[in-house]
Amino acid sequence: MPAGNVQTANRKFLLPGFIDSHVHIESSMLVPAEFAKLAVVHGTVGTISDPHEIANVCGMEGVEFMINNGKTVPFKFHFGAPSCVPATIFETAGAALLSPDVDALLQNGDIHYLSEMMNFPGVLHGDEEVYKKIASAKKYGKPVDGHAPGLRGDDAKKYIEAGISTDHECFTAAEALDKLKYGMKILVREGSAAKNFDALIGLMHEHFEMMMFCSDDKHPDSLADGHINQLCARAVAKGIDVFKVLQAACINPVQHYKMNIGLLKEGDAADLIVVEDLVNFKVLQTYIDGKLVAENGRSLVVGHASRLLNNFDCAEKQIADFAFDVSAFGEPVYAIEALDGQLITNKILCNPIVKKRFL
Ligand SMILES: [Zn+2]
Repeated sequence: MPAGNVQTANRKFLLPGFIDSHVHIESSMLVPAEFAKLAVVHGTVGTISDPHEIANVCGMEGVEFMINNGKTVPFKFHFGAPSCVPATIFETAGAALLSPDVDALLQNGDIHYLSEMMNFPGVLHGDEEVYKKIASAKKYGKPVDGHAPGLRGDDAKKYIEAGISTDHECFTAAEALDKLKYGMKILVREGSAAKNFDALIGLMHEHFEMMMFCSDDKHPDSLADGHINQLCARAVAKGIDVFKVLQAACINPVQHYKMNIGLLKEGDAADLIVVEDLVNFKVLQTYIDGKLVAENGRSLVVGHASRLLNNFDCAEKQIADFAFDVSAFGEPVYAIEALDGQLITNKILCNPIVKKRFL
């Protein structure tokens, strides 16, 4: 039924809650309980969350902290086992999670999947550690998330055939179609850092059964403004059928990750939202396990103080501390070019004399 047929004045709508299918809670700069407090206002009832960033700093203790802090509030966090800590050998990380650590995490009932396998070269070249981690996830029947920006053709096929079932890094529709062709599920990512919604949303007309929404990184100011509800409104405004949008936002993640979240079926947990309409998705009420957790923009979630796990101790930095003297270079130097709204970067040659910003 097209969206137009279900818009009737003075009617409200009961929907399953929204799911952020890939978000690092750490990027919100909030502990999980505080993240939940903001997210429920926008109708989010659960997340698929990779505690990669905290694991990079605090190791297994950091992952444990996220799980335990998340349990203090009525919100359905589903944490994964970080697959790539540290992310590269060039990082100076606080910890490393080796395959036995990842296996131990995956045995835990509070860990629901192996999170983004960033080491796609390792997958393609048969890295033993990488394959041990994937084998652990398979052993416990838990899905493996992908992370392979720009991977196409036979390489994409090989990566997917290793058992990796999702990707949230596509930045063109052609790349997403390539991956969909080999059976991979595609997450439309629109967060504070990377913005791929406009490039990918058109695919939802046809591929709604294989797509979800995620933010990946969501800073606190933008989480205060909105969450997956905003993406639903934008998708409907783009002409995507409302039921396809809701399938991607509410149902696909629950089924793919076997999340402990109700879908308004008999016997399900009462995880649901009341929205004003199916155009703006203004959330009037959010219920989790039958408990009212947000109403009319006000959160009823009460965060708990948590013990301090880690803190920084460094002096304030001045701009001069970051200066890099390139006057010794008489010729162009390589630089990393940041692209607005993307996580991918370009390698460029710069003339240091002209590009004063490097001085
Ligand atoms: Zn991520």
